[in-house]
Amino acid sequence: MRLALFSLLFSLPFLSNSQKLSISVFNDTNLSTILVTPTKGNYNMVLGDSTIALKSLQILYISRQGDLVLVRDENRNYGSFKRVTLIGQTGEDVFRLKPIIPAKPARLYDDNITFYVEFNRIMAVNIIDREKYIAAVVLAETGPNKEPELYKAQALLARTFTFTHIDKHQSEGFNLCDQEHCQAYKGRPEAFQYIYDAVLDVKGLIVVDSALKPISAAFHANCGGQTANSEDVWIQALPYLRSINDRFCTSAPNARWERTIPLTEWEKFLAQQGVDTARLTRYNLNFYPKERPKYYTVLGVNIATTTVRKYFKLRSAWFTVSAGKSEVRLSGRGYGHGVGMCQDGALALAQRGFTYDKIIHHYFTGVQIVDIPRVNLDFIKPDSLEVKPFNVLQ
Ligand SMILES: [Zn+2]
Ligand SMILES: [Zn+2]
Repeated sequence: MRLALFSLLFSLPFLSNSQKLSISVFNDTNLSTILVTPTKGNYNMVLGDSTIALKSLQILYISRQGDLVLVRDENRNYGSFKRVTLIGQTGEDVFRLKPIIPAKPARLYDDNITFYVEFNRIMAVNIIDREKYIAAVVLAETGPNKEPELYKAQALLARTFTFTHIDKHQSEGFNLCDQEHCQAYKGRPEAFQYIYDAVLDVKGLIVVDSALKPISAAFHANCGGQTANSEDVWIQALPYLRSINDRFCTSAPNARWERTIPLTEWEKFLAQQGVDTARLTRYNLNFYPKERPKYYTVLGVNIATTTVRKYFKLRSAWFTVSAGKSEVRLSGRGYGHGVGMCQDGALALAQRGFTYDKIIHHYFTGVQIVDIPRVNLDFIKPDSLEVKPFNVLQ
């Protein structure tokens, strides 16, 4: 048993700090023609059995030809192949990807890329060092010019999410997509270096619960002064996603919102929820919760505030209701679902000198921050931790 665990530890790529991930980029786009250009480092292009050294700034045209990928540059047609792969040689290699059909803005990416035809399109799968990917995700989710300790806290959440969702696209042959469906990933950001430095300061660390199981790494923009219990927003009650008071975010712009809704629309919604609207008075509609409410109760009918939020597309599920003659005025607090880390509060804590671990412990009750090899592997399906496509870089 001990030997089995030992070999497992050293065979699972995610457990090593040099792990690469495969991310399908422009995953929402039916790519058929792409320009790809090495901009930094040194690239080899692998076409079937042959390997060709690319020049810096060489422009390659990648297009679909049936089930194959056709590669050309301005001087030469290289032919059509099942798979075309660019492999960085220096460890600090960057290339530019520019979709032509359909047209999309160009993006920079780190490390390697492989192209092949599947799902009636060209797939572009970026095979990238895990920590570089985490840095790009942290920037996409947090924005530039924030505090290093906030970036570190966000990096722990992004890494924990990556760890627990690494098999999300297993059946499609890659680890994660670049959309919100997984984590927003827009390639190598301009502000890459200082965020990457923060990410490397907490390299390989993730957040686990008391049983060493990776947590559900929830976060949101602003909690309005009190975070939500997980079961009040989703179904599952998790011991580390408890409602806490958070005075650090309440002066941020996202802490408050206002919305006016015609009374007729409000009553239509209430009727749908089973309220006898014929009996309604203005007094029945008014609602002034003292803290983050779970229900808006009208004439004895409990309506989950998350249901109200979803129906009217409100910024949050925490609001007061003041009824007027022809409209109701909602005065709301926070932005987002309210579960887990409040980004505005985390930023304020970082500005006050709190370190990333204090920030994580403020928002997640009773968790631990550990190196990936300490994770309880009972919770992980070992085969899900492989990097895909398997054979490209070996
Ligand atoms: Zn996805
Ligand atoms: Zn907050």
